[in-house]
Amino acid sequence: QNNILEVRNLKKYFTVKTDFLGRPTACLKAVDDISFGIRKGETLGLVGESGCGKSTTGRTIIHLYKPTAGEILFNGKVIDSQSAEKQLRRNMQMIFQDPYASLNPRMTVGDIIGEPLYIHNLANGTGKTDRIVELLQLVGLNQGHASRFPHEFSGGQRQRIGIARALAVEPSFIICDEPISALDVSIQAQVVNLLEHLQEKLGLTYLFIAHDLAMVKHISKRVAVMYLGKIVEIADSIELYSNPQHPYTQALLSSIAIPDPVVEAKRERLLLTGDVPNPINPPSGCRFRTRCRYAMPLCAEQEPRLMDIGAGHMTACHLYSTC
Ligand code: SF4
Ligand code: MG
Repeated sequence: QNNILEVRNLKKYFTVKTDFLGRPTACLKAVDDISFGIRKGETLGLVGESGCGKSTTGRTIIHLYKPTAGEILFNGKVIDSQSAEKQLRRNMQMIFQDPYASLNPRMTVGDIIGEPLYIHNLANGTGKTDRIVELLQLVGLNQGHASRFPHEFSGGQRQRIGIARALAVEPSFIICDEPISALDVSIQAQVVNLLEHLQEKLGLTYLFIAHDLAMVKHISKRVAVMYLGKIVEIADSIELYSNPQHPYTQALLSSIAIPDPVVEAKRERLLLTGDVPNPINPPSGCRFRTRCRYAMPLCAEQEPRLMDIGAGHMTACHLYSTC
């Protein structure tokens, strides 16, 4: 298979309370047994409400967090903590939601972009200067920006700086953790277009994390929907938006505003009711059952498994169990 990334039964648990001897008494199962693959050159959207585990998934893949269990394969090779350092630092990069917080305010933009070149010994002297200019141009900035400081730029420009820094080491895979969520709507499309352009030009693969389905629609080839640490649905993007199967995906989709007022008037709204349950103590069986309008007794007893319901469209819901 030509999956660049393969995630197998990944778990990431955090200890949130300890007793007087330091023994764990409560555990947050932020990511609880998820599996998926990403093909070379594609974008997989990862969507869910805040706290569902999507950022933790990204950070665990890149080994900012050590996985509790499961395997991560990159280009067919298992990544463990030892290989993580060397292998990952260059091949996998991450772009963050708040570009400002991730840029050192005392460094010029040229130094920020040049730092990874120095750390990885990729260029020095005039070669380094040339490469910095090249990277700035790649993201739609120019040479004159190199001597300026992060605070002199707008939110969208700062995100471009963050992208240039990520590209400096020539990665093949980039985790985009809500890169447009903090930006004005008018700027969001520009950053998405830039990421698509770079993907085509440099052959990049993306995991694109967002909290609503509207944000990933344009850029994703496939989309995975997460709820309380689990993937509940994953499908080709066109299929997911036109034929959502999981009640949670249906509810998320119906909350997206449709610009056409005629369609909007005819549409039935499936609003999500109730609060997101406490992830430290999630509901038994299906974790979505406390907010699901189709919940039945089986849903409290048995956890639904993610199953293929045709042509790679997977969903985890007892409505589609065949027994
Ligand atoms: Fe709703 Fe049951 Fe399906 Fe969960 S398994 S989404 S509670 S119908
Ligand atoms: Mg997050």
